Amino acid sequence: MKPTPGWYHCAHAFAFPAPDPMKFCPDCGAPVVLKIPAGDSFPRHVCGACDTIHYSNPKMVIGCIPEWENRILLCKRGIEPRLGYWTPPAGFMENGETTSEAALRETLEEANARVEIGDLFSMLSVPHVDQVHIFYRARLLDLDFAPGTESLEVALFEEAQIPWKEIAFRTISTTLRYYYEDRKQGRYGCHSGAILPMK
Ligand code: ZN
Repeated sequence: MKPTPGWYHCAHAFAFPAPDPMKFCPDCGAPVVLKIPAGDSFPRHVCGACDTIHYSNPKMVIGCIPEWENRILLCKRGIEPRLGYWTPPAGFMENGETTSEAALRETLEEANARVEIGDLFSMLSVPHVDQVHIFYRARLLDLDFAPGTESLEVALFEEAQIPWKEIAFRTISTTLRYYYEDRKQGRYGCHSGAILPMK
């Protein structure tokens, strides 16, 4: 079968990154060992005493692109990593919430902003840090926003004002490029892909 240009093929997908370091079993406190359990194909932390297999899987980072007329809302990060760099509101999904609830919560926490969450906009795998970054479209409901505890500043930007050199992460600059390219082309769609390590 001929590969489809621009599609993502499984050869990239099996990198076997080392799982998060774990020394002791969260269940019983005994030391864990890293091994491939019977019937599995990935190394896992397995407890030497109670035999519990501790799985480690990618984390979800969820955010949205809040729009107000021709502008979008960005936050200047007040915490590491990338302190002082700009990002739309986004953060780690919590247990017990849906992806759109995570986007709403992060927007309220980081920008004290109320939004209506719309369609899925982008989903980017970041396999070298075991994360998936997901952004929704969103509509800002009012202009009553202010920096949350993890932001230094919150502001609305037109395309020409976007601080491209001060964007916090490559998933963000990629998502924003998709966003403005679609707008220029009159497209309305959803993007998926992967951000691979810089060569
Ligand atoms: Zn144990």
